Amino acid sequence: MDTQMLIGAKLVSGTETEESILNPRTGEIITTLPEASLAQVEEAVDAAEKAFTAWSRTTPAERSGYLLKIADRIEAEAENLAALEALNCGKPGPLALGDELPAIVDCFRFFAGAVRCMTGPVAGEYLEGHTSMVRRDPIGIVASIAPWNYPLMMMAWKIAPAIGAGNTVVFKPSEQTPLTALAMAKIFAEVLPEGVVNIILGRGETVGSALINHPKVAMISVTGDIATGRKILEAANKTIKRTHLELGGKAPVIVFNDADLEATIEGLRAFSFYNAGQDCTAACRVYVQGDVYDKFVAGLTDAVAQISYGHEDDSLNEIGPLISQRQSDRVASFVARAREANHIEITTGGERPKGRGFYYKPTVVAGALQTDEIVRREVFGPVVSVTRFDDPDDAIKWANDSDYGLASSVWTKDVSKGMQVAARLQYGCTWVNTHFMLTNEMPHGGMKQSGYGKDMSSYALEDYSVVRHVMVAH
Ligand code: NAD
Repeated sequence: MDTQMLIGAKLVSGTETEESILNPRTGEIITTLPEASLAQVEEAVDAAEKAFTAWSRTTPAERSGYLLKIADRIEAEAENLAALEALNCGKPGPLALGDELPAIVDCFRFFAGAVRCMTGPVAGEYLEGHTSMVRRDPIGIVASIAPWNYPLMMMAWKIAPAIGAGNTVVFKPSEQTPLTALAMAKIFAEVLPEGVVNIILGRGETVGSALINHPKVAMISVTGDIATGRKILEAANKTIKRTHLELGGKAPVIVFNDADLEATIEGLRAFSFYNAGQDCTAACRVYVQGDVYDKFVAGLTDAVAQISYGHEDDSLNEIGPLISQRQSDRVASFVARAREANHIEITTGGERPKGRGFYYKPTVVAGALQTDEIVRREVFGPVVSVTRFDDPDDAIKWANDSDYGLASSVWTKDVSKGMQVAARLQYGCTWVNTHFMLTNEMPHGGMKQSGYGKDMSSYALEDYSVVRHVMVAH
């Protein structure tokens, strides 16, 4: 197992507090890793600064070549990376290998292509005797900070467009899930010029804070909690850094009377519970129209009760445990508070299974009202609330009545109705008759307190670069 960080060309260990890295399936310690010292944060930023001049002047074709090499290395080492991700996050290994690794490889390949297509508008004479042109240039040193739910995929989403656009990066994985980032440190050290990507370990309040407050950092990109996003904005405020924030979600799902109920239930069984619901786009807040409400709740309850987990044979597992005891306690406390209301019925789940690990049973909370905490706050676990509506306008109003604005979906056989509702939803993404499906060509990002800035797609390249005007007098 790789345990060293990457600073410049060197793979080095941190020198500060040791952090225990746990296996969420058992609660046992996998390894302990020391976090970076403040001097090492400084060295990483210095290495990124030193690398920037040469890297920012490489051609798109050269950077594309590096991205393709990284993709090839990830593909060649996919089994090891998926096994590490499964070990550290508890997610089923076959799903990490079959679903997540190919998307991660494709992320680097997509940006290898997209960066070569970044061309601007034509130059022209907008003042007599002057020719204007628009350049799209890299920003500088990007501080990238990732969460624990998809450690490797979030790393790919952040690093591929940032270095593709010509920036250099200091990356900090979540202190809970650093193992795949450390495996990647070795790959970056072998493939990239010194200092283009640096990887440092540590907690948010120590290493993360030192990094985002560093005056040489030009941009901060964070995926995490809204509270973390606020701290990023405070830090950015001091030296006016650019920010790219992906901050959680509470995705509404509107199911109309005319939906294909079987397909909807089958879809939500997957899209609400993948990664044990620890997903910012998880289909977790369901609004169902009156005629089909009872049938839907019964069908969803049956389907969710059959989700399999906790088997020794990982190929039988559809979901894993939560990331930590703390997260499991948090989910349990949300359900306990929801249960206190007379109008609520927990139709399946609602407790921890017996045995080791940070598991929580897949849970359906039926009869929830718009004002209930379980409908309003992000649980980030295998829990879905179901709320009944009769008037479609109510469903749209309630769906939009949220601090979050990342993802949403509409389920109906009438696609024209689906399109009309999609147009009225205030979310970065709306799916019709599906949910959760992402592709590297399309943007992913939020509105409202879910943050701003796009991951994936050519829009990410725009976010990681700056438009400049050059004018020549003649
Ligand atoms: P978190 O905010 O606690 O931590 C995210 C990262 O920020 C970690 O690396 C952490 O060390 C770092 N961090 C925390 N405080 C910091 C500080 N003061 N300065 C610098 N860095 C700091 O979030 P988490 O618990 O790891 O992840 C779960 C959250 O992430 C959920 O709210 C989830 O919805 C969100 N998320 C959003 C998306 C998206 O695309 N919008 C994707 C995945 C996860």
